[in-house]
Amino acid sequence: MQIDNFIGGEFITPRNGSYLDNHNPATGTVTARIPSSTDDDVELAVHAAEKALVSWADLPRKKRIEWLRKIAEALELRKDEIARVESMDTGKPINLAKRVDASRSVANFEFFAKHAENLVDKKYEMVDATNYVVRKPVGIVGLITPWNLPLYLLTWKIAPALVMGNTIVAKPSELTPLTANLLCEVLTSIKFPPGVINVVHGLGPSAGQAILEHPKIKAISFTGGTLTGKIVAQTAAPMFKKLSLELGGKNATIILDDADLPNAAKGAARAAFTNSGQVCLCGSRILIDSKIYDEFMPLLIKEVEAMTVGNPADEKTDIGSVISQPHMEKVLSYIDLAKQEGGKIATGGGRIILPEPNSNGAFIEPTIVEGLNIESRCATEEIFGPFASVHRFNGDDEAVRMANITQYGLAGSIWTSDLNRGKNLAENIESGILWINTWLHRDLRTPFGGVKNSGVGREGGDWSLNFFSELTNICVKDE
Ligand code: NDP
Repeated sequence: MQIDNFIGGEFITPRNGSYLDNHNPATGTVTARIPSSTDDDVELAVHAAEKALVSWADLPRKKRIEWLRKIAEALELRKDEIARVESMDTGKPINLAKRVDASRSVANFEFFAKHAENLVDKKYEMVDATNYVVRKPVGIVGLITPWNLPLYLLTWKIAPALVMGNTIVAKPSELTPLTANLLCEVLTSIKFPPGVINVVHGLGPSAGQAILEHPKIKAISFTGGTLTGKIVAQTAAPMFKKLSLELGGKNATIILDDADLPNAAKGAARAAFTNSGQVCLCGSRILIDSKIYDEFMPLLIKEVEAMTVGNPADEKTDIGSVISQPHMEKVLSYIDLAKQEGGKIATGGGRIILPEPNSNGAFIEPTIVEGLNIESRCATEEIFGPFASVHRFNGDDEAVRMANITQYGLAGSIWTSDLNRGKNLAENIESGILWINTWLHRDLRTPFGGVKNSGVGREGGDWSLNFFSELTNICVKDE
């Protein structure tokens, strides 16, 4: 299979004719060739986006909402295929790809259609004048997304950008380009206006960097690692582009002494190992009150050991492969480092070789490490794999201190039977998102994003619509 860039409503080969291999990480086989695009391809995409901008921006919002609904309907028809392709491209279990990736990709368009429909333009009365806040599109926007939730995160940016009247140049991760290509096929099938959405495939430092640097791209919405986020900010900020950065995390799951322990163990295991720990919101540090540590640990280990690591195509699989062989090596090197740092493997700890067709796949046992110092590298650096460390704390103040110790501040969960105690604790944690007695429980209207080195800005509901709008205040003096 060969895929191409989608520019001006057409699938076109990269200008330099160069392609990269795309692998299935669960089998090690090459599944597709994808364009290795450069600034020439980004230039073409910007040209197409510029050509489409005036008519798309001029379209009444109501018409753009109709387009979002048409995209959602057409994607809905291909939901099973989305799940299958996403599972093949990422190595994630098919049931997870169905429940999360395919469903949310459709839901993103439905949600932003409805949310934009309910958008009321603001008006502020003065004694002698009225202020009208008018929304305009930002213009051409650049969307750069990672490999862990490929179509889910891409559509989470595309839908609000579209509905507010912008045109788009997007670059999906080079590791997971296939569902972005499927979306482009869907756009073709519904005769979506050409040039409004353009997708350029390729590597971050070439295709991605060209998007950041292009002077006609007025806003960058980026989701990815904190180090890459720094490059994005260094490039885009001096050009005064609008910038949204959704970056890494090292999230804490806090188990208080009054928690429902069996339920908390289920929640902590799910938070640590969903998608092989490759969700930015995963709870990779489990902080446990000393008073219940010895009671809680066997429950946690039982939950983790009940997870089936297997062929992602099998409906019964709970944990698939990680994203690539190099990423597997990185996670395994952290397991070695954890031992050097004084950690003890409580469960897992190694690579798994599965039978054919997965014998060359990048599978790792879900791994829990005890006894690490809370300031050790393994407990503070984002590993982004099936690795979680557990730590004891004495009292809520120490839980807060430990939760706040890293450079990150994206998410976390607290497990307690005292909701006021949980809320008080949550308010003291430096984090953009906190859950109490749940995890990854999402209302798409709420602000989503991180503090500290986990990001700048918020996505979701009004926050996304504001990011993809320029606001003009028109103050009219009364007669
Ligand atoms: P990366 O930062 O490596 O890549 C993200 C995207 O940026 C990819 O498309 C990548 O392309 C591109 N990129 C890389 N270098 C550049 C550059 N110089 N200029 C422009 N674009 C560039 O992240 P990963 O794909 O490895 O994703 C995992 C990370 O994403 C984790 O840190 C995770 O926490 C974070 N994440 C954050 C979320 C949040 O909402 N806060 C949600 C999901 C993930 P290429 O693939 O070719 O390198």
